[in-house]
Amino acid sequence: MSLSIVKTRALFGVESPSVRVETHLSNGLPSFTVVGLPEAAVKESRERVRCALINSGFEFPMRRVTVNLAPADIPKEGGRFDLAIAVGILAASGQLNGVDISACEFIAELALTGECSPVTGVLPSLIESLESSHRVFVAKDDLRYAHLLGAKSIYGIEDLRQLVEYLRDPERATTCRYTAETSDQDLDAQIDDLSDVLGQYSARKALEIAAAGGHNLLLFGPPGTGKSMLASRISGILPQLNIKQARDVAALYSLTNTPRDEGDWFTPPFRSPHHSCSAVSLVGGGAKPKPGEVSLAHQGVLFLDELPEFSRHSLEMLREPLESNAISIARAQHQITLPANFQFIAAMNPCPCGYLGHPTIACTDTPQQIEQYRRKLSGPLLDRIDMYVEVPFQSARVSLGAKEKAESSAQVRVRVEQAREIQMRRQGCLNSELHGEDLSRICALSEVQQDWLIVTIDKLALSNRAAHRMMRLARTLADCSGQAMISQGHLSQALRFRSVLSKV
Ligand SMILES: [Zn+2]
Repeated sequence: MSLSIVKTRALFGVESPSVRVETHLSNGLPSFTVVGLPEAAVKESRERVRCALINSGFEFPMRRVTVNLAPADIPKEGGRFDLAIAVGILAASGQLNGVDISACEFIAELALTGECSPVTGVLPSLIESLESSHRVFVAKDDLRYAHLLGAKSIYGIEDLRQLVEYLRDPERATTCRYTAETSDQDLDAQIDDLSDVLGQYSARKALEIAAAGGHNLLLFGPPGTGKSMLASRISGILPQLNIKQARDVAALYSLTNTPRDEGDWFTPPFRSPHHSCSAVSLVGGGAKPKPGEVSLAHQGVLFLDELPEFSRHSLEMLREPLESNAISIARAQHQITLPANFQFIAAMNPCPCGYLGHPTIACTDTPQQIEQYRRKLSGPLLDRIDMYVEVPFQSARVSLGAKEKAESSAQVRVRVEQAREIQMRRQGCLNSELHGEDLSRICALSEVQQDWLIVTIDKLALSNRAAHRMMRLARTLADCSGQAMISQGHLSQALRFRSVLSKV
């Protein structure tokens, strides 16, 4: 047979459509033509494939070789097709007789020696190939992405010769397949661990509860108490994104100049823009509209340190995404909407100098300065925060004298995942995302509790929105302790997280 068909994939943003490599051998003057690739790419690819075949001990057919990449209208660039082209030539020239490659995909660049090299964007390709039942062959270095997917249909090969051995003997091929044991743990990014935070037990617990239900959190306290250190460690206690979330996030990043590193795809984003950032970079926009920090934090965390230092305008712009989980960017002709479903975490000092309430250092601010500082946070913005948590100054005795090492992020994450699993099984979303009828049904209160809540709302002049936030938080507190019903204790605790606000 002198015609072969081999499967591979192209890369288009974060999508990776299937590509068919058709190789045809015919009689006539020996030549090697590749149709469907840009001229420069063809030249390089031809050279690599030819040398790789010969240097691996295979025969390069002395016939007219025509390779066609189909369909014609999708972007096809780079060396990601090398391996598929080489396999196509082997198959068409009878060097793979008896081997069935109809359910295989090949995605790797070839070196002149026949070694396989990783390609950019292999993860989108692997994700799409999972939907087929194909076996996918990639460079050994790309096998680490199989770890992210937990996929057993992905094989990492060193070179062309090894690939052919494995194709001929599928039994042996299992040695180059991804397994949980051989997975490369390097992809578990070096995230700072929660055990680095000394003391601050109640703030740690609050972070865990916020992570469990996706609640917005404001940490306040004097400088140097570890507020931003705590906030930045939430990444380590949040569960990994699922494939759909990871792709949505990667798609948003692909609209910027800094696409997400593939190794980070499944890590929830953590964005912490500086307070000097403009409103446009915070919420998005510009002549060629780009996603802002609120969208880059989609499915992850937006952390604003020194919250009152952000411009009033920027803070007001946060209200829309905090309420609707999306942001509309007005343009000259039309309007675009980008997703912005993030967990909001903020930190602030109690006063401009930071030392109000400090046991030994005196605050140098006037009451007017303090008032002005706090007034920058409008009621509607504060209304959208579920938990106010004090991170107090602690003496060295507390922070350094702790006998037992604090719990690690991994230990805490197990509990966060359990609490989230309860929520997903029950309602298909996190407690912080409950609205309308679902909210009243899932956060159902007894008559006594309802009366209590009504009295409390009146007494503290809370908004309805704040009351709903308390109910959602109470639901998470119940889920964290594995209880089916919200108790009065959970409600009171939710209120305590809110009433700390009076100190702000
Ligand atoms: Zn002060």
